[in-house]
Amino acid sequence: MGVFTGRTALVTGASRGIGRGIAERLGRDGARVAVHYGRNETAAKETVAAIEAAGGSAFAIGVELGLPGDAEALWEEFDRHADGLDILVNNAGIGNTRPIAEIDEREYDRVFAVNVKAPFFIVRHGMTRLREGGRVINISSGLSRTAIMPDNMAYAMTKGALDVFSRDLSKVLGRRGITVNSVAPGIIATDNTHELLHADEGAWARAAAISALGRVGETAEVADVVAFLAGDGGRWVTGSWVDATGGSLT
Ligand code: NAP
Repeated sequence: MGVFTGRTALVTGASRGIGRGIAERLGRDGARVAVHYGRNETAAKETVAAIEAAGGSAFAIGVELGLPGDAEALWEEFDRHADGLDILVNNAGIGNTRPIAEIDEREYDRVFAVNVKAPFFIVRHGMTRLREGGRVINISSGLSRTAIMPDNMAYAMTKGALDVFSRDLSKVLGRRGITVNSVAPGIIATDNTHELLHADEGAWARAAAISALGRVGETAEVADVVAFLAGDGGRWVTGSWVDATGGSLT
């Protein structure tokens, strides 16, 4: 018996990176996990297999986010496998790396469509499925609170919008006993940060130095914070922005 036994979780973008870490953690602790993916079905199946190998239960659902109708398509897929939901983790996200002088409207629209519009409409169309005492956890970024990487401005803006979403949604869902929070990772080693961390010989060390702990974070370290909020111990935390940056903002 795990702490999430009997609960169902949906983690978007769980084929790789932080989302995979969260899905595996919730699965290990007993949740039945919907492993959402966009393009990497094989990787999503690997996440499902890893959860099952650890004694858990999971299924994969594939829907490309950032397109009209994406959220409704996601719930249609979800409903084929499960009846109701306890934990929703809006994790899927993309970055932007071009400075304001170079970014075009297409890239700007895309990063907002995937990082802001998709989680908004996933909740919009899915909140009736969330059971009393449920959890919504939006994966934000330390960059919504620091300007250390201004070339990622559009991306940082999407995370700022997500934080406002978490704050206001907490009031909408609170009377049903559902908490809503943003979890903001610092630099975590994933495919997303591969270029940043391997740009040159000193790149990894420079990234590590940003954190008070002097290292780059691991996906499991974000998953631990999510698991806390998703668990009973997180029941009185809502509308919050939870720093999971390893002290990168100090
Ligand atoms: P990642 O390794 O690039 O993985 C991204 C995940 O999101 C994949 O599972 C991918 O699915 C899914 N995804 C991306 N775009 C999608 C789309 N259009 N439709 C459907 N699925 C899509 O990223 P990560 O580093 O784990 O980041 C996860 C979250 O943490 C993001 O919201 C990111 O902004 C945030 N974050 C990351 C860091 C960091 O340092 N890594 C720091 C702060 C915040 P497929 O591969 O199947 O397409």
